[in-house]
Amino acid sequence: MTLVTRQLKKAARVILIGAPGVGKGTQTERLLTRFPELASISSGDLLRENVRRKTSLGLKAETAMQAGNLVPDSLILDLISSEFKSKGWLAKSPGASISPTASFILDGFPRTSVQASSLDTLVPINFVVHLVTPPSIILSRIASRWVHEPSGRVYNTDFNAPKVPGKDDITGEPLTQREDDSLETWTQRLHKFEETSRALLEHYDRKGCLWRAEGNTSDEISPKLFAEIENRFC
Ligand code: ADP
Repeated sequence: MTLVTRQLKKAARVILIGAPGVGKGTQTERLLTRFPELASISSGDLLRENVRRKTSLGLKAETAMQAGNLVPDSLILDLISSEFKSKGWLAKSPGASISPTASFILDGFPRTSVQASSLDTLVPINFVVHLVTPPSIILSRIASRWVHEPSGRVYNTDFNAPKVPGKDDITGEPLTQREDDSLETWTQRLHKFEETSRALLEHYDRKGCLWRAEGNTSDEISPKLFAEIENRFC
């Protein structure tokens, strides 16, 4: 694939919302390549970094994260605003507004409509993408996923099959399916996403910046997403 990049003429402040398994990470990576001015800010990465460095924020977040719970909204908001400040996008003074050139994709934040409301007061998001793939497609994709556990190599019998069925291409060792890739676990995960994302989607729909990108694969979604961003920001 030839590498085509596009320059943004207007600041893009983007959020991707999508069910687990929909390929949010894939789209983020592709957007960063296509639009070099975009930076990705991941709340999970920032939190893990704070935990590793044992900052006071990290120490406060650690218990919740280990228990698999969301960390308190105020902590996350502090985290994000200090990241904006350290990038030079937000002045230190309270009530300061975001640099007019800051372009970014937020990953993992906001997760709730409460977080979205507080983010509105800090940084006005101007493009929210709802990535949609039918749950039946996501589930069948998961069911076709096989891994070589020692190396982490992942195969998919539908579009990235191993050369020899059931065997790793490099070592020839057996492939397995992850226990947490079971149909039941994934059905539950998708269900939970439906529930928790509803208010978030409504929040941005009311603001008029929600846009839906639907497709059965990441390759189907990317061109639509590129075109829409080029339309709006290039
Ligand atoms: P996952 O996709 O497994 O939830 P992340 O890397 O996005 O992984 O986040 C890891 C953990 O960090 C979450 O389980 C949660 O405890 C915390 N976290 C990340 N983002 C948020 C957020 N927006 N609000 C509250 N907690 C968050």
